[in-house]
Amino acid sequence: MVERGPDVSFANCGLPYHIGGEIEERAKLALQTPETLKAQLAINVRARTEAVAIDRAAKTVRIRNVDTNTEEDLAYDKLILSPGASPLKPPLEGIDLPGIYTLRNLQDMDRIKEAAASAKSVLVIGAGFIGLEMAEQLIHLQKDVTLVELVEQVLPQMDAEMVRSVEQELMDNGVKLRLGDGISGFKSADGGGLTAQLNSGQSVTADMVILSIGVRPENQLAKDAGLELGARGHIRANPHMQTSDPDIYAVGDASETIDPILGGPTAIALGGLANRQGRTAADHIILGDQAKPYPGSIGTSIVRVFDVAAGVTGHSEKRLQQMEVDYEKTIVTDFNHASYFPGATHLTVKLLWEKSTGRILGGQANGIEGVDKRLDVLATAIKGQLTVDELEHLELAYAPPFGAAKDPLNTAGFSANNIRSGRIKPIYSLTEAEGTQLIDTRPAEMAKLKPISGAKNIPFPELRSRIDELDTSKPVTTICALGKMSYFGARILSQHGFEVQAHVGGWKIEKRPQAPDSNQDNTMNDSSQPESSVPAPAESEVIQLDCTGMACPGPILRVKEAAALLTVGQVLEVRASDAGFKNDLPAFCKANGYECLRVEKDKGIVTGRLARGIACPVASSPATASNGATIVVFSGELDKAMAAYVIANGAVAMGGKATLFFTFWGLNVLRKDPAPQIANKSFMDKMFGWMLPRGANKLPLSKMHMGGLGTWMMKDRMAGKNLPNLPGLMEDARKAGIRLVACTMSMEAMGIREEELIDGVELGGVAEYLGAASETNANLFI
Ligand SMILES: Cc1cc2nc3c(=O)[nH]c(=O)nc-3n(C[C@H](O)[C@H](O)[C@H](O)COP(=O)(O)OP(=O)(O)OC[C@H]3O[C@@H](n4cnc5c(N)ncnc54)[C@H](O)[C@@H]3O)c2cc1C
Repeated sequence: MVERGPDVSFANCGLPYHIGGEIEERAKLALQTPETLKAQLAINVRARTEAVAIDRAAKTVRIRNVDTNTEEDLAYDKLILSPGASPLKPPLEGIDLPGIYTLRNLQDMDRIKEAAASAKSVLVIGAGFIGLEMAEQLIHLQKDVTLVELVEQVLPQMDAEMVRSVEQELMDNGVKLRLGDGISGFKSADGGGLTAQLNSGQSVTADMVILSIGVRPENQLAKDAGLELGARGHIRANPHMQTSDPDIYAVGDASETIDPILGGPTAIALGGLANRQGRTAADHIILGDQAKPYPGSIGTSIVRVFDVAAGVTGHSEKRLQQMEVDYEKTIVTDFNHASYFPGATHLTVKLLWEKSTGRILGGQANGIEGVDKRLDVLATAIKGQLTVDELEHLELAYAPPFGAAKDPLNTAGFSANNIRSGRIKPIYSLTEAEGTQLIDTRPAEMAKLKPISGAKNIPFPELRSRIDELDTSKPVTTICALGKMSYFGARILSQHGFEVQAHVGGWKIEKRPQAPDSNQDNTMNDSSQPESSVPAPAESEVIQLDCTGMACPGPILRVKEAAALLTVGQVLEVRASDAGFKNDLPAFCKANGYECLRVEKDKGIVTGRLARGIACPVASSPATASNGATIVVFSGELDKAMAAYVIANGAVAMGGKATLFFTFWGLNVLRKDPAPQIANKSFMDKMFGWMLPRGANKLPLSKMHMGGLGTWMMKDRMAGKNLPNLPGLMEDARKAGIRLVACTMSMEAMGIREEELIDGVELGGVAEYLGAASETNANLFI
């Protein structure tokens, strides 16, 4: 066995965890050494020895000692290539500057660990599995972490709606997430560190950079030997892992095998596959055609990001679309174990199946606990060619601490069956609800707290009695929090003769992650935060309320009842396992005049305290309104938008709050450039979209625009004088937690969809503006 580096059989997968200190002992990562392999398996290991050429005719491999540079030939009867894949390093300006690292082996790990010891800030590029693990571990080391990802989501292997909980978790833990932006080059920064230039024109400066944007197969040896390569450069192997030369095998990250789901070639870089492919090649060398072939790779993978786990098995929806497969899908959210057993947390499963046969093609899951178990069952189901109908009756281990009488996978099977049998017409995005009566079947309190734009709230229990409020001539769409009540609602309405469709997955999958609201009082346990006006209660005055195992909006409804009974000085402590409760509790307190004393999240359980205090935010009248500004941004002109941002940033710098309410032409400031692909847009909406300026860089000047020349001159002058530009002001506003609210009525009028707006924008109506305006003493219209 020849190995270019000093180590054999080290745990690549553990490298991030030693950097973060979770795996304390470095030695634990070296699973075998040349000495143990020799002693146990009689393998002669030549470490620090590189294979440089294969002579297939002579059946020899030329090897070179990397220390002495001496070369020799080794003879073989059979040869196994397992050279792996090396981290991608694109040829960008400054890519070789010191301070830019990649992570593949123990030496990379040592270098990163040493550099991180003195770094305050780290830029991680690429939000795949390794990038996310690194971001998590660097936060544990208390670094200031920015994570930049080229596509508009983390974990591009999964579908966007299935990774939003991961994005929220990253932001909640302090990772600065920049999605949909790539790196165009690096420069040394004045005063040390590096500045990475982003495609958007913005830049990030950090003490060090970790590049985790993917890997490429180490194929040079195979290529030079004339072995057949796949389309992406992997060494092509048959089911016995033999290459185009039957005496040479290829396994692991460098090899290409088959996709057992859709057929055709596939190459997936994962540790489990590499190990089992190694065994397959060895079996074939010893047993010949008696050996069992490799069954192909379906890419089952998982990652932990703080308290959240997410993973995938088989094909994602994106992939099925690329491959033009006729598929169907469902998304269900349920509890990981019996909801009445303490500690139950939400688990979301997405299922994809072949439309004609029901065969499972892919599955994804996210949650706090039990994600691995569901993915493993789905992976087994895919390998066993099960259909979604068979998921309904999978008999899975159940006792209250472990599962539920209906496991989330059974429920996913039920839901799939409801769709397959035509019992409901599913929709997966509110954009598909256009032209229908949108009915929100959530409880009224929840609809008030988190309104769904354009929806009429008829809580599910009231639906039968209020059915005559609906227009019988118009189709209906039902939506609820998680997709269950909207299903029930859709069934009732369809039995009453309505043409009806149900939103599968519910509001949970529509909701975009939001950066923690810096104005929101959810870190009051932190000693650096201002002290609460409510004196610390004696333990006897703390009333406990356990809402774990309740789905949204259950916890908020229980809080509403319990809080109404509080007397002055009493504190209500609530525990909930619904992840959204972390934001819901402060919002509830704010809307209802309670003081939110604390909100913490640990292992998926949110604990919050509230009191009927003397400093209730709702009690503030205009006379006591805080510093700050609420600004209606009506104009879509560059100079006016800049003025609005300058005032808002200033208001926050002076200790106040700021809300920018964008309406009509002002919405152009918030538009993404380039535009995302939006299906089903009417011709007029598209026309409007083409005619209006798209985003901060395209806005005209209000005076002297001169066909763009004046605007260009103004931007140039401002840059020359080091004055701020609009993208920079917008970034400052984002960091300062300034609320950006887009007027839903104007969006409707101008045919602008939520997906077309930059991240972090909330949707709201006039009530949102008036609510914000009542809390600030400067209210402006620009
Ligand atoms: C940070 C990190 C975290 C990961 N986490 C996970 C995880 O959680 N789960 C998972 O499934 N997978 C994970 N992986 C992927 C997993 O480690 C790989 O899929 C697996 O190691 C592939 O094994 P391999 O033998 O093909 O390649 P490698 O493990 O890369 O081994 C190839 C070896 O060949 C040597 N070599 C290359 N060319 C030559 C040559 N010409 N002569 C001599 N030696 C040569 C290299 O030095 C290297 O040591 C992770 C990888 C990394 C880097």
